[in-house]
Amino acid sequence: MQPLRTEAPEITALSEPGSEPADVLRRVFGYDAFRGRQREVVDALVAGRDAVVLFPTGAGKSLCYQIPALCRPGIGIVISPLIALMKDQVGALLAAGVRAAALNSALSPDEQDAVRARALSGDLDLLYVTPERLATESFRRFLDTLQIALFAIDEAHCVSQWGHDFRPEYLTLSSLADRYPGVPRVALTATADPHTQEDILKRLKLEDADVFSTSFDRPNIRYEIVERTNQRQQLLDFLTRHKGESGIVYCLSRAKVEDIAEWLTSKDIRALPYHAGLAPDIRAANQDAFLLEEGLCLVATVAFGMGIDKPDVRFVAHLDLPSSVEAYYQETGRAGRDGAPSEAFMAYGMADVVQRRRMIAEGDAPDEIKRAENAKLNALLGICETAGCRRQALLAHFGETYPEPCGNCDTCLSPVETWDGLEAAQKFMSTVYRTGQRFGAGHVIDVLLGKETEKVTRFGHDRLSVYGIGQEHSAKTWQSVARQLVAGGLLDVDHANFGALILTEDARGVFRGERDVLLRKDRGTASLKKTRDKHSASLADDLDAEDRLLFERLRRLRTQIARDAEVPPYVVFPDATLAGIAKARPVSADALLAVSGVGQTKLDRYGEAFIDLVEAFEAGV
Ligand code: ADP
Ligand code: ZN
Repeated sequence: MQPLRTEAPEITALSEPGSEPADVLRRVFGYDAFRGRQREVVDALVAGRDAVVLFPTGAGKSLCYQIPALCRPGIGIVISPLIALMKDQVGALLAAGVRAAALNSALSPDEQDAVRARALSGDLDLLYVTPERLATESFRRFLDTLQIALFAIDEAHCVSQWGHDFRPEYLTLSSLADRYPGVPRVALTATADPHTQEDILKRLKLEDADVFSTSFDRPNIRYEIVERTNQRQQLLDFLTRHKGESGIVYCLSRAKVEDIAEWLTSKDIRALPYHAGLAPDIRAANQDAFLLEEGLCLVATVAFGMGIDKPDVRFVAHLDLPSSVEAYYQETGRAGRDGAPSEAFMAYGMADVVQRRRMIAEGDAPDEIKRAENAKLNALLGICETAGCRRQALLAHFGETYPEPCGNCDTCLSPVETWDGLEAAQKFMSTVYRTGQRFGAGHVIDVLLGKETEKVTRFGHDRLSVYGIGQEHSAKTWQSVARQLVAGGLLDVDHANFGALILTEDARGVFRGERDVLLRKDRGTASLKKTRDKHSASLADDLDAEDRLLFERLRRLRTQIARDAEVPPYVVFPDATLAGIAKARPVSADALLAVSGVGQTKLDRYGEAFIDLVEAFEAGV
């Protein structure tokens, strides 16, 4: 093989003012081309203009300020709300050979002094700080002594009270405009909500900034939503598509989290629980394991995820219905930040709807908020029960038009069969009516099927005209009918009455036969497994059998290197880069450098080990 360059890379050259952005992208980060609107943002900042960046997760917001900071004279100051996020970013930058550091309360006073000294001597390209620190006068006086390349305000939605992440200290960032005129500022967020976007412009004094936004679509995430039949088996089937990969399984309750984690472990799948009821040290240990190890399934309540920036989460599975489309999109959005193929899976049933309605009803929010929460739940049910493209339905919810069916969701990959459900709807709804709108779906279905249960006898429901009129369908089909009638707004769940089904205003049209009722046929999971087309559900899908073997070995090598260096594996190379190596089989430094995600510093540090492995593999060792 060709000898690798072994001398230390000329890191100072990276920050040379006037470097060409495309060159920095290639040399430092190992990427051939800017993505989406990255280049426009970089150009605006390099030219000294302010910018607001509204890209979805995984679009590559970090490079939008990191590259300008390297190309402009001086140091880039990045404001980030969480120490964990800073740590991830700084770790990744250091691995790429960029001179970066964080200044926060996790450091000792001596360590903080050392960072400040490096900044003063021009030995840093990027400095990450919390908004609290930036608000202090002493820190501002320190900044006055530095040449500042730009200010980047990450997670800028924290300035808005509309979201859940409001941080009052973000409000103080508006004063940067007056105190440092001429220093370009960029605010970045993945929040699509227009209220929040307006707040960012106003409260950060960025009214004159160039605004860059893109579609909030996450093209690398495949969506699948199924009716819950046997959730454990369904989960297991789903996980067979993700052997050796990391992901999150969301459950609503702590008990279910524990239960599922234990059960997965019994099936030889490495799984750990995460919820607010665990002792803090266990919680922290499980979170660290998730960040540092490969092939780990974290079973969690929604308490998990805030501030987790792990880019190689390959799947997110929901075993319970999330609270809203927004929550669903945010939670599934934790998959595939690195842009590689990922999957979002949900199994849900009627019981979820009943439970959600009850949680809303029993909460102490004012009525008008409760109404809004119920409406949010309905919007989500509509997406669950659609026979059309999931992505189109999701994006439409956020006010975006996605022109064609996406080809990368369950309904696109295997179109749902529909059936004329008018008669079934009439029968079901009559039974709801005749039994007094006081019972849940289970009992209504028993009556339809003519079952002789204790409840049926006690209430005399075997004497009703509707008793046994639904025997042409199975209980499973009736469950599906019930769900779809609720999702379609024809039935509602009476939370004040233990989840009894009641008729809505719209029901009348069905009784009169004035409206169509088109229902979808349910199907189990795993029907997508064999589908092959331009989209893939996982990186391994893209590789042939032999490349996949190499991919696995590359992954083990990466784990080893990451362990020795005490960094998460993705900091060494992201999954997509390993897949690129498996396909290209580079046996020279130049060939390895040509793989996307391999920059000069990583080539120098890890190149030899990876090339040796490829050579050994090619030689059949
Ligand atoms: P965001 O902050 O928008 O969620 P990140 O900045 O974390 O996204 O980037 C997501 C992933 O995409 C990272 O792994 C990053 O290295 C990668 N990436 C960013 N820009 C490019 C690009 N131009 N080409 C290839 N990969 C990129
Ligand atoms: Zn689709």
